[in-house]
Amino acid sequence: MTAVIRTRGELASFLGPLSGETGVVMTMGALHSGHASLLRLARSRVDRLIATIFVNPLQFGPTEDLDRYPRTLDADLEICRAEGVDAVFTPTVDVIYPVTPSVRIDPGPTGAILDGASRPGHFAGMLTVVHKLLRLTSADVAYFGEKDYQQLTLIRQMVRDLDMGTEIVGVPTVREPDGLALSSRNRFLSPAERERALALSRALHACPAGTAEEILAAAGNELKGVDLDYLALTDPLLGPVVPGPARLLVAARVGTTRLIDNAPVEVH
Ligand code: AMP
Repeated sequence: MTAVIRTRGELASFLGPLSGETGVVMTMGALHSGHASLLRLARSRVDRLIATIFVNPLQFGPTEDLDRYPRTLDADLEICRAEGVDAVFTPTVDVIYPVTPSVRIDPGPTGAILDGASRPGHFAGMLTVVHKLLRLTSADVAYFGEKDYQQLTLIRQMVRDLDMGTEIVGVPTVREPDGLALSSRNRFLSPAERERALALSRALHACPAGTAEEILAAAGNELKGVDLDYLALTDPLLGPVVPGPARLLVAARVGTTRLIDNAPVEVH
């Protein structure tokens, strides 16, 4: 049985006295196999699994796609039931923000680069809601996708720097057979745009190991047909690249849809 919970009171009653391990998977809905992969991994470990579905207005800029963000609650609940979720917490904006928060989490320097540079306020809004949802669900462990690699990195930093004690598990990106990373925003792509969007995953996999220059040149070559926001090569914690394991990250606009993707690479 999957409980559908909308208020803080219902959530508190569901949680009851704490026993066993609670896991949470936070989503903005429009669930796909990427989200299902997080749910399945969490389900295999925790005693009590909560999924949250909440489109967080605090992390959308004034010109971004808050209003057109897809909302597919019935289908989402079906996926949660199929994955054995114990409770889906799907609050309204008023439940999460009874007042507009005047205190927000400062993402620090790692939040100022890459997506943080292109989307001012995005990561402060994201960390603020993740902090609230971790507290509200009393989660011991939370699962996040590597698809949003900077988000995952910042959440790990927040939990470390603010002594939150929650375990954070990162889950590899689920892709379509042709390489496109699954994303709720892919539904906005026309067939021609979807074809162009394949450039992102092609770029990330063009040169899995080589010098920094070789990796960036091979990736850049694949990205000629898209409106590139950034292509960046960093160390695994998003610091300056050094020889060894590294991360290649890309953001681009295809039509009106902004897409991000990333992959591990090895720098010689
Ligand atoms: P979202 O609903 O887009 O906010 O994503 C909710 C969670 O699912 C985040 O932790 C994402 O990183 C993760 N996620 C989204 N797409 C994928 C994917 N293709 N593979 C794995 N995880 C994903």
